[in-house]
Amino acid sequence: MRSVRGDRVTASELMIPVAQSAVTVCALSHYPRSGLANTENTGLGRPSSGVPSPPVRTAAERRELLKDVYEEARGCTRCPLHQTRTTVVFGAGNADADLMFIGEAPGANEDRLGLPFVGQAGKLLDKLLAEIGLDRKDVWICNVLKCRPPNNRDPNPNEIEACSDYLRRQVDLIEPTAICTLGNFSTKLLRDDTTGISRLHGREEVRIIGPRAVRLYPLYHPAAALYTPSMLEALRADFHRIPELLALGPPEQPQRCEPVPDLEELTDEESGEESGGDQDRSAGREPEPAAQLGLF
Ligand code: URA
Repeated sequence: MRSVRGDRVTASELMIPVAQSAVTVCALSHYPRSGLANTENTGLGRPSSGVPSPPVRTAAERRELLKDVYEEARGCTRCPLHQTRTTVVFGAGNADADLMFIGEAPGANEDRLGLPFVGQAGKLLDKLLAEIGLDRKDVWICNVLKCRPPNNRDPNPNEIEACSDYLRRQVDLIEPTAICTLGNFSTKLLRDDTTGISRLHGREEVRIIGPRAVRLYPLYHPAAALYTPSMLEALRADFHRIPELLALGPPEQPQRCEPVPDLEELTDEESGEESGGDQDRSAGREPEPAAQLGLF
């Protein structure tokens, strides 16, 4: 099946040469970082309550912004992995995809070629995509980490934290309807929770990522499924439910909170303060909660 969106950009428009290969890419958010920081830690998901309104941008604008993020990531030195990487593996596919896959980190082949999932796990991913009538140009594929950890060791928390801003901006700009997290690292990061993939795989839930609600759909990592037949069977069964999930369309979006006006910009009348109002505070009186939030 094809995805539901009308103003799709084609994969060829997104191909940007990187090293010997080509990569599709991404952008910079219009949001201040605080507007996208969902949690205090590295998690990207947060409970749904008053989120800032997302800007309305065309697919072409979002793609250009994604390219800006890619340019930024290419020179990234936010964590020590920049010292050992060959190539930043930003992500590839359709910058306006309804469906996004997030793996763990590039391996040796990905590091060499600058593309995600190009080894055996990637071949399995391609096969499973074909089984549901999709291919790479229909979806966006990326990882939690954009640089390879030496010897394919697990990502470290400091690396995840340093890199999560790129992922957050990718999600923000691509505006997917559904995100399939592949394995434990991306699942835990996007759910901001330590529950493991064996309990969560195949269970769709709606999560707020940045300013939008998405259908989060954790799956076993294809690399793990390569060696465990029962996992492969589960991955395939879960994968075959993806078209059903996409057919639901985007989830209901959260209530928006309007930007809080700067109290100093309000007139005394608007702010409800008479001259000398500051004296109340200096006298130790707490301002009313509504005034603290600048809501009225
Ligand atoms: N290749 C990737 O790009 N990511 C993974 O998580 C595994 C292999």
